[in-house]
Amino acid sequence: MKRIYLQQAKTQIARPNTIRDINRQIVLNYVRDRAPISRAEIARETALQRSTISAIVEDLREAGLIEEIGTGDSTGGRKPTLLRLRTNTPVAIGVDVAPRRTTVAVADLAGKVMKKVGFPSETNAEVMTRKIIDAVKAFAAECSEEDLEVGISVPGIADPESGRAVYIPYFGWHDWNIAERVTEETGLPATVENDANAIALAELWFGEESIRRTANFITILVADGVGTGIIFDGQIYRGEKGAAGEFGHMIVGKDAPVPCSCGSHDCWEAHASEKAVVSRYLSYNGNGGTGVGFEKIAELARGNDAYAIRAIRESASYLAIGISNLIVGLSPQAIVVIGRLTESWDLFEDILVQTADRSVRSGLPRTTILASSLGESPTLIGALALVLAGKFASAS
Ligand SMILES: [Zn+2]
Repeated sequence: MKRIYLQQAKTQIARPNTIRDINRQIVLNYVRDRAPISRAEIARETALQRSTISAIVEDLREAGLIEEIGTGDSTGGRKPTLLRLRTNTPVAIGVDVAPRRTTVAVADLAGKVMKKVGFPSETNAEVMTRKIIDAVKAFAAECSEEDLEVGISVPGIADPESGRAVYIPYFGWHDWNIAERVTEETGLPATVENDANAIALAELWFGEESIRRTANFITILVADGVGTGIIFDGQIYRGEKGAAGEFGHMIVGKDAPVPCSCGSHDCWEAHASEKAVVSRYLSYNGNGGTGVGFEKIAELARGNDAYAIRAIRESASYLAIGISNLIVGLSPQAIVVIGRLTESWDLFEDILVQTADRSVRSGLPRTTILASSLGESPTLIGALALVLAGKFASAS
């Protein structure tokens, strides 16, 4: 049940096309999830008229979204033609702006990365804008596709409506008009989104099956900072100006081993980020091994190094406090943890589960806490998902 806001009524009114659009997206999603699938199977499952489905399939083929792949087994009569998503055709350019490195990639409808380039991130916004535009132009020139779109993921607050990154603390940039500039100079539609929100969208559309079926969940990206994305009712919850989900700055304790990006020593990020793990390891170690990074400590921990394991488990205990607070406050069906920390998942999963279990949730189903399945470049998949999700999602 949803309130009708009259100031939005013009765009929300049920046009004759609305039902057709919804049916089109349903058929497209059947092809995406169940391929190879025939028109007849879709008709059986959806109870849509066979003729309606045939018309929609033609429309989707013309739009370059699906293709036929030969015939399946007959259940009597003519053998059915099977359908799947059109593969190996570039439709999305993803720009993953991370603190140290920026990656630009081109992918097909299924999210398969076909080609990518990377360069060190620039601290000067204009130089960075130039480099991104040049990389996007180079891919666009190679692709010669009309339907290319660009998704840009940034480590800060972004306002997709205006196409601007409102604030990126790591670079100290305010009001970076990156999506606007990309569109201006390449002619391609572009959208910009906070990296944690983009990852949440990637989990919703490209994550493991149980998460793709979940309508309410929260993603937690643990890296230099701690970022969260909220999927509420099958879509990103952004809040005013896209600023929701800044749980990295919720207070979980005093005297963190490192300052938060905002300067405070009380924030979740200061207690539970990769930087906190590194700082704890060095202090347990009597500051031996200065210069050792997170990657190395995680490797030591998996090799049974006591200081490394202690640093990871201590940081995980703060990760657990934050997760527990999110569960109590928002009651998600699942929490997905993303980042290099999850490579050592078995070293601390017990802490997350036990802390969440201690919360007052009597009688309520347990929230699933799991590690992401997005692989090595979750923020890049996030950037691509900004484009790809738009192809499959329902408009209203
Ligand atoms: Zn903070």
